[in-house]
Amino acid sequence: MRKPVIAGNWKMYKTPAEAAAFLRDLAPRVAAASHAEIVVCPPFVDIPAAVDAARGTNIGIGAQDLFWLKEGAYTGEVSAPMLVAAGCRWVIVGHSERRQYFGETDESVFKKTTAALDEALTPIVCVGERLEEREGGMTENVLATQFATGLSRLSPEQFARIVIAYEPVWAIGTGRTATPEIAAEAHHFLRELIRAHFGDAASEACRILYGGSVKADNIKGLMAQPDLDGALVGGASLDPVSFAAIVNF
Ligand code: PEP
Repeated sequence: MRKPVIAGNWKMYKTPAEAAAFLRDLAPRVAAASHAEIVVCPPFVDIPAAVDAARGTNIGIGAQDLFWLKEGAYTGEVSAPMLVAAGCRWVIVGHSERRQYFGETDESVFKKTTAALDEALTPIVCVGERLEEREGGMTENVLATQFATGLSRLSPEQFARIVIAYEPVWAIGTGRTATPEIAAEAHHFLRELIRAHFGDAASEACRILYGGSVKADNIKGLMAQPDLDGALVGGASLDPVSFAAIVNF
């Protein structure tokens, strides 16, 4: 049985005070939710306030990115040991916005994923095709390449500790959700890639989240797909009422 994960990616929104207020509002709304792991990923500077406000609740705090080295002269970067020391248990790796605007590659995704695992953080590793790739019939090729370069090089022990998020880039922040059938097809394809490389047990155990304009009114149809194990939620995670409704799908 794979326990679903519902994770919120706040992107570059909210101050520390707003993060604390959000978590105080969210906590009682999801206190009874034992069917899923609940994660909130605020901007770096909000993490201490978020960890503080989430203490004693069933909400885990994650970061949106990390650097792969532990420390050094890397201006602006934040390492996995720093995230752990700040109270994070999760980290998003390879989000399409990092790939699009900040030069993230499948190679850096691999390095960041192993750096997170080395510190016992759970990486939520994002994969997904762009619109022109989907329209050009390239979706499976793109996913296979992202898997081969970013994920298949993990050891079986490392792979067992990651969560994958399938996020079709054309569905992120656009209001254009993949239909449950489109999402299911991609999730099934990813699960078969995992099966071919890591075997049946790893494939059955791996949690694959869907991300891309998930809202309270479409989460149920998505979660009805057997290969779909939760959601990575952007815009709709910024409001405690809508995020709680997604958690309590
Ligand atoms: C995301 O940021 O990972 C995301 C899926 O955003 P949205 O839900 O706003 O499409």
